[in-house]
Amino acid sequence: MARVGVFICHCGENIARTVDCARVAEYAATLPGVAHAVDYRYMCSDPGQRLIETAIREHGLTGVVVASCSPHMHEVTFRRTVARAGLNPFLCEMANIREQCSWVHEDREAATAKACELVRLMVEKVKWNTALEPIHVPVTRKALVIGGGIAGIQAALDIANGGREVILVEKGPSIGGHMAQLSETFPTLDCSQCIMTPRMVEVKNHPNITLYTYAEVEKVDGYIGNFAVTIRKKARCVDEALCTGCGECQSKCPQGKLKTSVIPNEFDLGLSRRPAIYVPFPQAVPNVPVIDKEHCRYFQDGKCGVCQKVCPAKAVDFTQTDQVVTEQVGAIVVATGYDVMSSGEYGEYGGGRYPDVIDGLQFERLLSASGPTGGEVKRPSDGKVPETVVFIACAGSRDRSHGVPYCSKICCMYTAKHAMLYKHKVHHGQAYVFYMDIRAGGKNYDEFVRRAIEEEGAVYLRGRVSRLYQKDGQLIVKGADTLSGQPVEIAADLVVLATAIQARPGSDALAQMLKVPYDGYGFLSEAHPKLRPVETNSAGVYLAGACQAPKDIPETVAQASAAASKVLGLFSMEQMEREPTVSVVNERTCIGCFDCERVCPFGAIEHREIRDRRGNLLKVVSHVNEGVCAGCGACATTCRSGSIELRGYTDEQVFAQIAAVGV
Ligand SMILES: Cc1cc2nc3c(=O)[nH]c(=O)nc-3n(C[C@H](O)[C@H](O)[C@H](O)COP(=O)(O)OP(=O)(O)OC[C@H]3O[C@@H](n4cnc5c(N)ncnc54)[C@H](O)[C@@H]3O)c2cc1C
Repeated sequence: MARVGVFICHCGENIARTVDCARVAEYAATLPGVAHAVDYRYMCSDPGQRLIETAIREHGLTGVVVASCSPHMHEVTFRRTVARAGLNPFLCEMANIREQCSWVHEDREAATAKACELVRLMVEKVKWNTALEPIHVPVTRKALVIGGGIAGIQAALDIANGGREVILVEKGPSIGGHMAQLSETFPTLDCSQCIMTPRMVEVKNHPNITLYTYAEVEKVDGYIGNFAVTIRKKARCVDEALCTGCGECQSKCPQGKLKTSVIPNEFDLGLSRRPAIYVPFPQAVPNVPVIDKEHCRYFQDGKCGVCQKVCPAKAVDFTQTDQVVTEQVGAIVVATGYDVMSSGEYGEYGGGRYPDVIDGLQFERLLSASGPTGGEVKRPSDGKVPETVVFIACAGSRDRSHGVPYCSKICCMYTAKHAMLYKHKVHHGQAYVFYMDIRAGGKNYDEFVRRAIEEEGAVYLRGRVSRLYQKDGQLIVKGADTLSGQPVEIAADLVVLATAIQARPGSDALAQMLKVPYDGYGFLSEAHPKLRPVETNSAGVYLAGACQAPKDIPETVAQASAAASKVLGLFSMEQMEREPTVSVVNERTCIGCFDCERVCPFGAIEHREIRDRRGNLLKVVSHVNEGVCAGCGACATTCRSGSIELRGYTDEQVFAQIAAVGV
């Protein structure tokens, strides 16, 4: 005989303002099988939870219904509460009378009646609930980090320093990401390479880190604690073990002659040229060249081979092929970063048409000591030092018609930095900044922008640029200063666009492979923006850095460390507990049609052979891998022979609720 306890929460005024909670409790007490019903102001508070525990003991309850907020919010809280009183946690159900009732209705009478119905449904369900035990799955204590920018580097180092093994996979020939391209970094103006390079080297030398550069993840199978990852290591055509990084090959490559090379240097964003065999930048890790087959004469017409001849270590190997490796890992950190919208993509301001209209990352390369001009600010068109530079913020951001509607978050800060660093390099130069508003929310950020204006003399003009065109070798920038109400026209030598931060191309495909949701712009989505900001809805997959949204370095590093701590938390267990609300197959009735396999979004359905005692194959049936199953129930609703049931949501439980509707 069921003895259900019903606990109605006011959620302060959230529920009580619209629902008469005392009346719902009175009604619940009249339902068959209900032994106790009560309402309370905050059921999730300590006294509220104690009230439930005491009632379970005093009334000998066999099931509990908490009518309050969404189970997303407090299911775990209340399951733990009932467990403390000795009841199996899966004998506790929640009726959502907040999000599904008080928040969406205004009529108190109708809302109270609906709350009563929701409670009645859950009482009927809980009567059919059975005690369930958590599933235990083993944990492989090795992590995969995808992306070797500052986010991936930080996450990999934190996990490795925590004593666990890490596989770091970087798509490019070197780790470093965008931070390696930066000159100095706001708000402290420390040299990006100086703080970055030691960490890159630490990654290379760390005994717990295996580094795969020039590599990509091709396939991910499995589930939290037990992923099998297929990685393609692309052929560099240079043997990493033999190469000493002497640089002979690059300096002798006929395609690399400064005046004749036509190959744009990606690291300098096209502001310089590179050979066909190259190391992307001097501090690259690993310091091993890669052959760009598309531009290499040996691969194009078989006529060169100079690099192989001059290599003293005999490391150049034209026959090298891609290698495919499989690794077992327990957790995955995605740290694939961002891209900037190219100035050409945002055509309004002449990007792609005028060589002296560049984007922020290109300006970083001009400022950088390792950049194409050795750190001197020079115009790409003629190499002259620009005496007037116009910086345009929000070029593509917050622009619904031609760009993206969101704020790229870091541009206000790096534009102030650019204006400041330009002044440091060209003392007599004048910087103008067109902006919409200044968003400088961060420690010492507003002070930094003030410094650019008040101490470094940058002229900030609040308004949008309406026209930009070339005249007599200069760029004419027309706009308005909305604060003074005056039109403005500036003849500039160089224009720098703070173009929008975008998701990496291909981030959607990666997200699909990892079964991680992503937003309309391709940024990967966290499980909960406030409470689970580094976790994803795909258990065991975590996010770090700008792959989630535009972020500066401090925020990126903080999130990477947070992701690493989640991974280390997971790896502190030998076995992991998972919710038992997963599907089970009745092997006797399963007809082996595998419709369930086709609809399962998590790849949880396996094939199981049923044999007789002599080993003869009788049939092949579906089997649910409990470690992978997320309990969505798609298989159970698809199964034509009714052989699949979702634990905790059995036919009896669901039909009991349906029968209770309208009683
Ligand atoms: C012009 C400009 C100036 C800036 N200045 C500053 C500053 O002064 N201070 C500051 O705090 N921030 C600054 N930032 C922001 C800073 O660049 C970012 O915060 C930081 O680079 C984010 O790091 P990340 O690792 O998340 O991404 P990224 O730097 O983009 O690194 C991602 C890495 O993942 C790799 N990758 C991508 N896809 C895959 C894949 N599928 N498989 C394997 N690897 C992959 C990439 O090759 C890359 O190495 C600036 C940004 C810009 C655009």
